[in-house]
Amino acid sequence: MNYKDIKIKLENLAKSLGASLVGFCKLDKPSKYAPSLNYGISIAVKLSDAVFKTIEDAPSFMYFQHYRTANALLDQIAFRLSQKIEELGFLAMPIAASQSLGKNSPYNGAIAHKTVAVLSGLGFVGKSGLFLSNEYGSKVRLVTILTNLPIESDLPIIENGCGDCEICKNACPAGAIFGEKPNALGERNIDAELCSNYMKSNFQDIGRGSVCGICIKVCPKNNL
Ligand code: SF4
Ligand code: SF4
Repeated sequence: MNYKDIKIKLENLAKSLGASLVGFCKLDKPSKYAPSLNYGISIAVKLSDAVFKTIEDAPSFMYFQHYRTANALLDQIAFRLSQKIEELGFLAMPIAASQSLGKNSPYNGAIAHKTVAVLSGLGFVGKSGLFLSNEYGSKVRLVTILTNLPIESDLPIIENGCGDCEICKNACPAGAIFGEKPNALGERNIDAELCSNYMKSNFQDIGRGSVCGICIKVCPKNNL
């Protein structure tokens, strides 16, 4: 099987399992946890508009539970695709949709999912620090597979499209969004600790984590 056929097969498998978007890219900077795996596959699932409508000016139970279910689905899709890639004779490491690496790296996983998504040409990172896909804005969750299967993107990298908008910065209840455009790879332009602490301090009954969702709800790219 040639790489074009493998790409189509993997895209079809991912979509049959519930993926909304699938992208492929070469990584200039592989993860230090897998230095020989210098290609990435980015997979997105679109989240429910109806669930976002339950967010007003605070997080909601519906969104928190939906977020966790989306992560579980993404992890399953990445696991199944990784199995398929290894059956074909390559290496594949699924990186969990929501990963932290202990006390020294509580807000980062083995690689930034949004960086892989940007390199795959699926969208850009907004001033909110969120990945905004071309099709669905930031109403998506992401997962990544690191691999040595050499398939690159045939889509161009997209520039940040926020323009002068600062709606998310002004809406963030934690003051975690600086209102700056991220660099080309979408590296951090928000204070992840402030974001996480806002949820932990105020909404323990709902759950912990950076899932208040207000920056998604207010973004005009999302038509909510
Ligand atoms: S999830 Fe909430 S607290 Fe975190 S950056 Fe977005 S708006 Fe701010
Ligand atoms: S709310 Fe405005 S500034 Fe924030 S991510 Fe959306 S478009 Fe960009």
